[in-house]
Order: sequence, then C-alpha cells, then structure tokens
Amino acid sequence: MSERRKLVAGNWKMNGGLAANQALVQALRAGVGQPACDVAVCPPPVYLAQLQQLLAGQAAIALGAQDVSEHEGGAFTGDVSAAMLRDFGVRYAIVGHSERRQYQGETDLQVATKARRALAAGITPIVCVGETLREREEGLTEFIVQRQLSAVIHLNGHCISEIVVAYEPVWAIGTGKTATPTEAQAVHAVLRTQLGAATEQADRVRILYGGSMNAANAAELLAQPDIDGGLIGGAALKAPDFLTIVGAAA
Ligand code: PEP
Repeated sequence: MSERRKLVAGNWKMNGGLAANQALVQALRAGVGQPACDVAVCPPPVYLAQLQQLLAGQAAIALGAQDVSEHEGGAFTGDVSAAMLRDFGVRYAIVGHSERRQYQGETDLQVATKARRALAAGITPIVCVGETLREREEGLTEFIVQRQLSAVIHLNGHCISEIVVAYEPVWAIGTGKTATPTEAQAVHAVLRTQLGAATEQADRVRILYGGSMNAANAAELLAQPDIDGGLIGGAALKAPDFLTIVGAAA
C-alpha cells in the first residue's frame, strides 16, 4: 500500500440553486478546517462560476464538474469543453457516471475520450465504473468494470496514473443499499490489479467508492486498503454529513 491521499468528492447532481449553494458552501467552509484528505464539490455546470467565487481564498475544497465534453470545441450545442471548465478553476471532472451512461447512452469509448479531454486540459477525470444489479447477480461484476476501465486505459495509457477511478455499483447509487466493505474492497483490488498491468504506478491511483456512502458507513468503507475515498451523492447535500465523511477519510 502506498501513501495515497484520500479524496472525498461531492456529486451534487441536478440539485441546488444560488441561495442553497451559498448556504452549503458557507457551512462546508466553516466546518472543513484543514483536512488531511482532498475534498471537492461538483455542482451543476451553470453554478461553476458561482462556486469558483464562493470557494475563492481557500485551498481545502476544490471545484469539480459533473461531466465534460468529448469534443475539443465547436458545433456541439449544450456541451461544455474541458478548456471552458479550466477557465473556472475546475480541478476534477466526473466522467462516465452511471446516470449518464444510462440516460444519455454514453459508451465506454465516449467516457474514455472525455477522460482524455480532461487530462489534456490539466483536469483530473474521476472515471466511474460499476455494474447493475442484474450484472452482479449474473456474476458479471468483474467483467463489466474491467471492460469499462479498459477502454479508458486503452486511450489514456501513457498518463493512466493521473486518473481517479470511482467504483460505483449502479444498484447502490441513491438506493440506500451499500456494497459491504468486503464486497467493495474485492472490486477495488480487481481494478488496481488491472491498472497494474498498464502502469508501474498503479499504487498511486486513487480508487473511490460511491453508492449510498453516508456519515454512518463511511469509516468502515474507507478503512479498506484499496478504498481511497468516496464519491458522494445524497450525503454531499447536507454539510454535517459530508463533513463527517471528510473526517472519516482524514
Ligand atoms: C453518485 O451519484 O455518485 C452517488 C454515489 O450517489 P449516492 O451517494 O446518492 O448513492
């Protein structure tokens, strides 16, 4: 095991508003102190400028995006490029979240291309992988997550140690069902072995767990040797809960 610094990232999804964002960031800034882990919040894209201002003058909480275009620029209505995200101080970009794979039909190749765009702009992609309940029940968990990660490795092999991976079992997202620490650790170990075949620096890569991680279960999940942080949905919208998870990671 290396001395990987843990990362706790909040995925606000399509939640928030000017006033709510301000209140949430105020509470996070007041409570976060000097965490011994990295912390990020990922608001909807229209609020990135607001969040950049709200987070100014501190280093504890970084700004992340929930997605990034697979294109560099041009006639792609509604897309936001990696360079544009960079303009607003974005440090992380979630790519391949299961909600985008499911509702926007994002393919493994698109996700890998998004990761490449982010890396080229100096943004760390948080690459989400995870199986559905049916796939788990059919014994396909390893096959699915390895297939998803392998597309990203294939396209980004030379700088694969710069990515963050998030293992997010689809059946655990927003459902209140969490993978047990043992179940999650087993998949994280598989992913690290896969990274190890692509880079000598697999020990440096942070692999987050996501899926109903909350203030009550975070410590046990984060104690696993290959769980290097959390990608937090619902619990990221409540400052005390999110700060408890940050505390458990630190
Ligand atoms: C997520 O959306 O990435 C997530 C993990 O959500 P939740 O924590 O609500 O399950």
